[in-house]
Amino acid sequence: MTQEKKTQDFGNDPLKVRDTDHYKDEYVSGFVDKWDELIDWDGRANSEGDFFIKLLKEHGAKKVLDVAAGTGFHSVRLLESGFEVTSADGSPEMLAKAFENGRKRGHILRTVHADWRFLNKSVHDLYDAVICLGNSFTHLHSDNDRRKTLAEFYATLRHDGILILDQRNYDALLDHQVQPTHNYYYCGDNVKASPEHIDESLARFRYEFPDKSVYHLNMFPLRKEYVRKLMRDIGFQKVTTYGDFKETYREAEPDFFIHVAEKR
Ligand code: SAM
Repeated sequence: MTQEKKTQDFGNDPLKVRDTDHYKDEYVSGFVDKWDELIDWDGRANSEGDFFIKLLKEHGAKKVLDVAAGTGFHSVRLLESGFEVTSADGSPEMLAKAFENGRKRGHILRTVHADWRFLNKSVHDLYDAVICLGNSFTHLHSDNDRRKTLAEFYATLRHDGILILDQRNYDALLDHQVQPTHNYYYCGDNVKASPEHIDESLARFRYEFPDKSVYHLNMFPLRKEYVRKLMRDIGFQKVTTYGDFKETYREAEPDFFIHVAEKR
């Protein structure tokens, strides 16, 4: 049996770790367990309300592929709201946790272990919607990986399907307009999330938990207009961007952007 990893390893120079494949080493079991213990699902559900459910229904989506299932929060919410959901993730630790969380709530999640860059090797079905939420797309460190991933998402959508993808407002951070807040994804004061380093190709965040344990994530700071352009380059016809679940917002203000890319 393989031993689950409990600690992260960023080597001697953590700021040099700018590699897409590293996400599997970042989501070690200690971090995954802690994350879920502290992020209160009810609090998170309250802060995002029925934004995604309404959006999916407005677009007539019934069959959804959650490509960044993580610990299963959106997969379970959507299942409980009547959608047909498949949960994919590239991290076996995350998928195992999602499955366990689903079981606790009386569901058997349909899971697929797949890296986004090769999604269609493991996913052989078509969906009305692909969701990639919780600031996940930021884990891709090269332009090529981002294009490849979006093309894989595009290919698994029906002709009139939509992609819903969110991201932290890195423009505000890169342009030093705001200090990041963490209302939506950390739901309260349990997890202190702060940017330890930011430059045009790395956002290294530090996560501190009440027991003083500390974890990090090395992410690529996605600029909003860059992501919108990538989506159009891949072939999506219309991209609508919301700021913190609203259609009108001031650029520096939102914590998160949510892009809705339509194939038709
Ligand atoms: N969506 C969940 C949420 O909101 O709680 C999880 C978000 S977590 C920040 C990012 C997830 O993306 C992790 O579960 C990670 O394993 C997954 N991920 C990152 N890069 C990936 C890749 N290249 N292929 C597949 N999954 C990936």
